Amino acid sequence: MEIMRGCTRGCRFCHAGMVNRPVRERTVSDIAEAIEKALENTGYEEIALLSLSSSDYTQIGKLVDEITSRLSGKNLTISLPSLRIESFSVDLMEKLKGVRQGGFTLAPEAATDRMRNTINKPIQADQLLSTAREIYSRGWSTLKLYFMIGQPGETMEDVQAIADLSKKVVVEGRKAIGKRANLHVGVSTFVPKPHTPFQWASLDPLLTVLEKQNLLKDQLRGPGMKMTWSNPRETILEAALSRGDRNLAKVIETAWRNGAKFDAWQDQFNYNIWMDAFDAHGITPDFYGSRKREIDEVFPWDHIHTGVTRKYLLREYDRSQRNELTDDCRDGCHACGILSEFSDLRQAHPGQLWLCPEVN
Ligand code: SF4
Repeated sequence: MEIMRGCTRGCRFCHAGMVNRPVRERTVSDIAEAIEKALENTGYEEIALLSLSSSDYTQIGKLVDEITSRLSGKNLTISLPSLRIESFSVDLMEKLKGVRQGGFTLAPEAATDRMRNTINKPIQADQLLSTAREIYSRGWSTLKLYFMIGQPGETMEDVQAIADLSKKVVVEGRKAIGKRANLHVGVSTFVPKPHTPFQWASLDPLLTVLEKQNLLKDQLRGPGMKMTWSNPRETILEAALSRGDRNLAKVIETAWRNGAKFDAWQDQFNYNIWMDAFDAHGITPDFYGSRKREIDEVFPWDHIHTGVTRKYLLREYDRSQRNELTDDCRDGCHACGILSEFSDLRQAHPGQLWLCPEVN
């Protein structure tokens, strides 16, 4: 169940955070009623309260209270993904203990301050460790952390920091609950996406991705530790399709004619079929993925207008290269373009459910 749409945090790699602006919240009563109706009509036993950043939903405490009181005793699993790394999130998850509970997942994405500034997702390592300690000591034995390698400007020291931080989290778990503490580390690879500040950035070359993954695979193992990672060949294809142009239509058709189907299912993914299809049309995936982009390059998606301006995206890209943070735009509007685009709608819907400033 989607509880709000949009996000004010401005992580620079995040496509959804850019194209789903502005932030709009559904009311607690609308959400609770929709959940009850959905359960009645479907018989589902699991509910996830979805958004890009659930702790930012302004009524999150009230929502969780309402849902737990309406649904307790029904033997449902309720999960609350996309929580911020802070003890308030642990409090929220604890409130769900009356119902069957899902796992605890946090997404620091990067492990050094420099990388966190580059991607605009500032989190203090101390805070992550103290939140992890709380999670373990309040009854969860498994914590899942998501990191992303290959962000622009990343060095091997930044990757090593992911391993170091993960090991420290396990130590916190051990201190809290001994050998029962488990840590799953999910490591994805950054794919530059259109309509984001990183639309000008390059995908890491295959060998670099493998080197980074190998470093982590070597270190993130042992009792209580499990690592999962994305298939770098799938990443190459994803990167080409993400920033592809009309020439890729021929490649997609050829790959399909040669048997490519259900590629998102790992057992069905056939890299060679795709590479042969690229070859057949004299195109390389690197042209779309790893090639360096000039600032004034005209992109195949430039005619699609999301409301956020290219000027804003470029300003954010420049700031990323200087490792400068941009504050959450609830603390001050950064003029991303949404308000001028949707000023009529904003005027028609005044008040707090839409989190951008009012327009007169
Ligand atoms: S208009 Fe301002 S407050 Fe609204 S999403 Fe854009 S930057 Fe954030």
